[in-house]
Amino acid sequence: MDLKKSVRSIPGWPMEGVIFRDLTTLMLDPAAFQKSCDILYERYKASSVDKIVGIDARGFVFGAVLAYKLGIGFVPVRKKGKLPAETLEESYSLEYGSGTLEIHRDALDSGEQVVIVDDLIATGGTAGATVQLVNKLGADIIECAFLIELPDLGGRAQLRNCSVFAIMEFE
Ligand code: 5GP
Repeated sequence: MDLKKSVRSIPGWPMEGVIFRDLTTLMLDPAAFQKSCDILYERYKASSVDKIVGIDARGFVFGAVLAYKLGIGFVPVRKKGKLPAETLEESYSLEYGSGTLEIHRDALDSGEQVVIVDDLIATGGTAGATVQLVNKLGADIIECAFLIELPDLGGRAQLRNCSVFAIMEFE
C-alpha cells in the first residue's frame, strides 16, 4: 500500500503558496491508519521507551495509539492555555505564524526515555520547542517521529541533536 496516496494535498490552504498535506483522509482509511500506526509500533517496540510525547493536535492521534500499543504513558504537549496544572512553556515559530507550547511539569521524570510524535515536520519550529520542553524536564529523547517530513523546509536541522524519523516525504 502506498500511504502517500491516502494523504490529501490542498494547495493554497491556509494561505497562498502553501500546499497543506491533509492527514484526515489517511485517518479515515482504516488500512492506511492502521499501517501508519503499525510502522511506528514496529520501530519502537524493542526500544525501552518510557513515554510518548504527542504534539497538539494531530500528534495526539498517532502518539496515543503508539502509547497504547507499547503499553506506556502518553504526555500531551499543548498550545498555551489548555493544560490545567503547573506547566513549562516554550515559544516557537512555524511555517505560518508563531505560538507557545506547554507541558505539565510533572509529566516526565529526569532520565526517562521518550519518543516525540507529531503528524508532520515542516520548519521544525514546533518539534524544536517540544524538544526544549522535554530537555528542560531532564528526559532523554530516543527519536522524534513524524508521518510526514517536508525536507525542503529544513526541519531536521532544527533538531540536530535528535534522531528524526518520518514515514513519508513530500515536496
Ligand atoms: P513546523 O513547526 O515544523 O514548521 O510545522 C509543523 C507543525 O505544523 C505540525 O504540528 C503540523 O501539524 C503543522 N503543519 C504545518 N504544515 C502542515 C501541513 O501541510 N499538513 C499538516 N497536516 N500539518 C502541518
